[in-house]
Amino acid sequence: MSLKLIKEEKLLNFIDGEWKEPSSDEYTKVYNPANLELLVQVPLSRAQDVQDAVQTAKQAQKSWALVPAPQRAEVLFRVGTLMKERKERLSQLLTMENGKVIEEARGEVQEGIDMAFYMAGEGRRLFGQTTPSELKDKFAMSVRAPVGVVGIITPWNFPIAIATWKSFPAIVAGNAVVWKPATETPIMAYELARIFQEAGLPKGVVNVVFGSGSTVGEAMIEQDDIRVISFTGSNEVGREIAGKCGQRLKKVSLEMGGKNAVIVMEDADLSLAVEGILWSAYGTSGQRCTACSRVMVHESVKEELEDRLQSEIAKLTIGNGLDESIKVGPIINRSGIEKIKNYIQIGKEEGAELLTGGYVLNSGEHRKGNYFAPTLFTNVTGDMRIAQEEIFGPVVSLIPVKNMEEAVAINNSVEYGLSSSIFTRDVNKVFAAQRDLDTGIVYVNAGTTGAEIHLPFGGTKGTGNGHRDSGVAALDVFTEWKAVYVDFSGKLQRAQIDVE
Ligand code: NAP
Ligand code: MG
Repeated sequence: MSLKLIKEEKLLNFIDGEWKEPSSDEYTKVYNPANLELLVQVPLSRAQDVQDAVQTAKQAQKSWALVPAPQRAEVLFRVGTLMKERKERLSQLLTMENGKVIEEARGEVQEGIDMAFYMAGEGRRLFGQTTPSELKDKFAMSVRAPVGVVGIITPWNFPIAIATWKSFPAIVAGNAVVWKPATETPIMAYELARIFQEAGLPKGVVNVVFGSGSTVGEAMIEQDDIRVISFTGSNEVGREIAGKCGQRLKKVSLEMGGKNAVIVMEDADLSLAVEGILWSAYGTSGQRCTACSRVMVHESVKEELEDRLQSEIAKLTIGNGLDESIKVGPIINRSGIEKIKNYIQIGKEEGAELLTGGYVLNSGEHRKGNYFAPTLFTNVTGDMRIAQEEIFGPVVSLIPVKNMEEAVAINNSVEYGLSSSIFTRDVNKVFAAQRDLDTGIVYVNAGTTGAEIHLPFGGTKGTGNGHRDSGVAALDVFTEWKAVYVDFSGKLQRAQIDVE
């Protein structure tokens, strides 16, 4: 396949079905984290561009909402089909802009394809309820109504999957979308916008405005016509958005950070546990919201797990993810590297024992990009900062425990609540753990990653604010419940009063 992609060209905003220059005429450069090659230039739009997009979306939404949902879904079927046809191109571009290895990039694109077909199916469901009225000759039902224009703000670590989790349910439910992708990863947004266009989505139903969070993101929050903000990103930014939306009584759905843990009990299949930890800790170089960054291990198998993990980590190939033999790709940018380095220092000062890694890879081929060695600390305690705070890099802390209760308590002691996992062969432990782990996602005998799109995705406590992406639950973010009463008695019947 030719990779004559969009090198060094300028991307444009997608507003009202057309490609538009930003009103600022300013652009910023986007580099491939694997080799620091310039990929594209991306607009730094201003509030004016957001306003244009919102006005367009508002107009488009009126007619889109009147298109029967099964017909709206037809567009999503075409979107899914186009994504499928372009899966390899999308995956390679994704690896180039984000750095994740090609196998994972293919997995992420597949997640978007799955979401398209799943949400297209919702076009013939979008179920409400019918229920008996307390009065005679009266009919009662609830239906989902679109909210209008929705604002979507997405991070760089899953530049296409997260966008599909949010935009597809919004579209099938009859909303119009204004989407601000992360500046680090605009190419997936550009490609997806093209797919919407080719799939025949009416003009203005999806609009993409590129630009920084502090300009474009903030402008979106200030727009009264955007009735919902759906955000995925850091807690810091999420908290700020929640405050501003709260003031404006704007609905806001937040998916934020994680400090996810694997528990390895004394009866676990250790080979499986090692595989699960490696995949969920070092995949995407630990830059997943669901990445495993803590392992609570039963003291009786601690040494064996340490040895096995160390020897497997030594075999991990690190480099440009376009090479199929590479297992671990780069870190998104220099500030990501600096943050990880800082946590290594913190871990050492806290008394954690560094078993392997802990340094920037900057010789040979690695000099060209942003690479960090897969890192393993041991003898960590649950209260250390490296065991409490999100590092967002390939760093794992082993925490020895005496029993499952202690492991669960440590799991639950962090401010986040996204994903957790337990490796055990004891069915009683399995059921107790899935009940007591306080995260939005629990895995048994698998690592902390691997969500499927038809289940709710999200977390408790500091990870979110009670909403979920993907699954049917996503529809709750992008619809309002409307209760409809139809009285066919021909007389005025008063609820609670004219009941016989
Ligand atoms: P981030 O810095 O919070 O950015 C996320 C998005 O918000 C970007 O599009 C960013 O724009 C925008 N933004 C920044 N400041 C803003 C503001 N003041 N108002 C409105 N929007 C603003 O997060 P990130 O560094 O891209 O992503 C990593 C974080 O995302 C991690 O904490 C990770 O755990 C979390 N995450 C969570 C989930 C989940 O589902 N729970 C999934 C993936 C990632 P620019 O960057 O373009 O300025
Ligand atoms: Mg950021």
